[in-house]
Amino acid sequence: MIVLKFGGSSVKNSEWITRSLGIVKAQIDRAPVMVASAMGSVTDQLQDIAYTAGEGNLEPANIMLGKISGLHHTTAIDLLSGEILSGCEKAITAILEELKSIIKGLALLKQWTPRSNDAVLSFGERLSTTLIYYRALEEGIKAEYVDAREIIKTDNSFSSAKLLEDITYTEIRKKINPGRNKIYITQGFIASTQNGITTTLGRGGSDYTATIIGSALDAEEVQIWTDVDGIMTCDPKVVNSAVTLKKISYKEAQELAYFGARVIHPATIQPAIERNIPVVVRNTRNPAGSGTRIVHSETGKGIKAIAFKSEITIINILSSRMLLAYGFLKKIFEIFEKYETSVDLISTSEVSVSVTVDNTKSLKKIAEELSHIGTVSIKENNTIISLVGSGVWKNPETLLRVFNAVNTIPIRMVSLGSSDINLSFVVPGKYAAQTVQQLHNTFFIKE
Ligand code: ASP
Repeated sequence: MIVLKFGGSSVKNSEWITRSLGIVKAQIDRAPVMVASAMGSVTDQLQDIAYTAGEGNLEPANIMLGKISGLHHTTAIDLLSGEILSGCEKAITAILEELKSIIKGLALLKQWTPRSNDAVLSFGERLSTTLIYYRALEEGIKAEYVDAREIIKTDNSFSSAKLLEDITYTEIRKKINPGRNKIYITQGFIASTQNGITTTLGRGGSDYTATIIGSALDAEEVQIWTDVDGIMTCDPKVVNSAVTLKKISYKEAQELAYFGARVIHPATIQPAIERNIPVVVRNTRNPAGSGTRIVHSETGKGIKAIAFKSEITIINILSSRMLLAYGFLKKIFEIFEKYETSVDLISTSEVSVSVTVDNTKSLKKIAEELSHIGTVSIKENNTIISLVGSGVWKNPETLLRVFNAVNTIPIRMVSLGSSDINLSFVVPGKYAAQTVQQLHNTFFIKE
């Protein structure tokens, strides 16, 4: 069997829904499961609704809801006819009524919580997959609709819930029985706790749903259909000479996703690694293109790509008490653990530690507690730039080329990972584009 995941831009209107379904249909003999995101920017709109209703502003929330309702009803009319259209209208109306009641409740209570937020966001995927399912029926395709909340089980850390793998895999195997000439259709991103409370896997989490299902069912391949040609050597919006990578390894893809390449969600690769399932990133606009294949094996030596992550904060902790002391780092990291803030990069000297974080929600409290350990200074608005590739970092020649390429840039931190996959450094945000460009010219432009 195979899993095909379609992002928001691949199901943004009737034309794209039909195209995406066509891509699945063309592979129907491979026993496909289709995982879909919400249409276009619907999740963003639902996010606005959740905040607006949570502040007690029912009317503006209802106006926004009207827009979402209009989009799904007109798309249904474009896609469907006769009894299938009325069946779909009924299903969509019921889903929208449920959302309307939730919004009313939140507005009356003037309440916003991560839990209610997840409940509101989940409607985007529920609506889009309803349209896709009915369209499949309209085209005479044998289709089964599965509510992802019945198969993807998580804890209750709302907004980025953690997977409960064993029970999820059991449920998936129970409820999805892929076969040739039939399409299973389900939602990405949404899940539920064991008590049935709706959760989400984090924004962009539909990719993760796809590999979870792929892993549970031992898929032959997971295809991530998006609006770019695959994983590129760099973000083409910053470097216009960026090119698509044909193949990269799981480890390289993971590093790239984690350090800012937005093509796949950072959690996507893990389930695929466990079963050695290839993940292929492909472009719905260019289905003939081969995309990028993410595989287990090594994919050759060299720097594969440059990723970057902006709006990064550096925290420096300086203390002479650190000199020759032990247990010092433990104390520092316990503070980050307490405030559930993950650290991206670390560099240390005998008397100082520098770390980067992108979640600054608890920055003040963290800085306050760290100040009992040493002198704390904070630098905001930085960019982490990561060069990802295999088998090159032990070669001094590579490092020389990297630092020659950025010899006019003020570098604030450097980290060469022990994995021999990633060299990252941090520069002030205003130098980010120039740095990335210079590095790309050095490693990817052949003279
Ligand atoms: N619809 C969700 C989002 O926009 C999840 C996804 O598309 O992967 O974040």
